[in-house]
Amino acid sequence: MRDTDLLQAALGLGTPWAVSGSRFDALARRLDIDITFAKGARFACPCCEATGCPVHDTEQKSWRHLSFFQHEAYLNARVPRIRCEVCGVKRVNVPWAREGSGFTLLFEAMLMPLLRSTPVAEVARHVGEHDTRLWRVLHHYVDEARARDDHSTVSRAAFDETSARRGHDYVSLFVDLDGPRALFVANGKDAATVGAFADDLKAHGGDPARIEEVCMDMSAAFIAGAAAHLPQAEITFDRFHIVKIINEGVDEVRREEQKSRPELKQSRYVWLKNETNLSSGQRELRDSLARSNLKTARAYQIRLTFQEFYQQPTRKDAEVFLKKWYFWATHSRLPPMIDAARTVKRHWNGILRWHDSKIANGILEGINSLGQAAKAKARGYRTSHNLKAMIYLIAGKLELALPI
Ligand SMILES: [Zn+2]
Repeated sequence: MRDTDLLQAALGLGTPWAVSGSRFDALARRLDIDITFAKGARFACPCCEATGCPVHDTEQKSWRHLSFFQHEAYLNARVPRIRCEVCGVKRVNVPWAREGSGFTLLFEAMLMPLLRSTPVAEVARHVGEHDTRLWRVLHHYVDEARARDDHSTVSRAAFDETSARRGHDYVSLFVDLDGPRALFVANGKDAATVGAFADDLKAHGGDPARIEEVCMDMSAAFIAGAAAHLPQAEITFDRFHIVKIINEGVDEVRREEQKSRPELKQSRYVWLKNETNLSSGQRELRDSLARSNLKTARAYQIRLTFQEFYQQPTRKDAEVFLKKWYFWATHSRLPPMIDAARTVKRHWNGILRWHDSKIANGILEGINSLGQAAKAKARGYRTSHNLKAMIYLIAGKLELALPI
């Protein structure tokens, strides 16, 4: 078998395309394969698909292909531009690459699983390409898959924001709780992001009026956005965020009190951690401090008791419980705990809603860790456009239409 025949068979080329030659440079670690088309061949118009269009002229093009053993491989061809009676002069589509790409389809198919599992900068180093070229490939397949993605069954969603860059801009993530999967990522963390989510839902066959449940933190912007754009949605506030606000109350009481009670110094975490996460030493410290007549110990009891809200058997029991807790906290004479209790009061229905929706705790934490994972893979990603595409790639459960 001649090497051109071997290469032609391996590339799977059919008429009118054929391998005309190859050049191997061991020093440059590079194989170049030249492809040509039969003289007098006619091609289909890439726009209207009319067949039998004559060649007008050709343009030299080159594509990176899968490596030949340890050597980089390139396909080179003079790509014809045809003259279509309807569309004019157009460049034909070649069967081994998509229009506008400098990589072959097989090279891209090799890249995509790598880009899902490995930081882009690392893949770029590994294949010896600039990362902007890899981001272009990633965007192409993600955009195409998202365009086909169907959101018509979405009825329960969760929102959370994550900082796109340290201390800088934010992106908001909208997740299908029943996927679970990332449906939409918006720039910013204001109420308008919920409107953008509703629009995107419609664009994917979904209906904002079908959204019955949403889970979120107590961000005023998200609450306003849900009221404006998701007319049927009942809000459940995420347990972690509610407890966090009560914890902050406890911490503030402690910081104030330790000015006069030095034994409280170094005790910060024993009040904030959950029982199961304390070491035996920390537990002893907590128990001995809790027995003493400290404001911090009282604040801690208020925080600890709040957790029992989630153990109430029914919503009715839970509401009776929460009223008692509220009365206790607001009469504690501990201003930070009174403030925390008032925050609970202002978000009353969304806190109680948990007893109807039973949306799993930790959903938002899960979303947030997705954001972190995407950031790690997109390290040095330069733009939030790239970060968003990476979130869709790793958390969108998209069906990528890869050529193999
Ligand atoms: Zn045409």
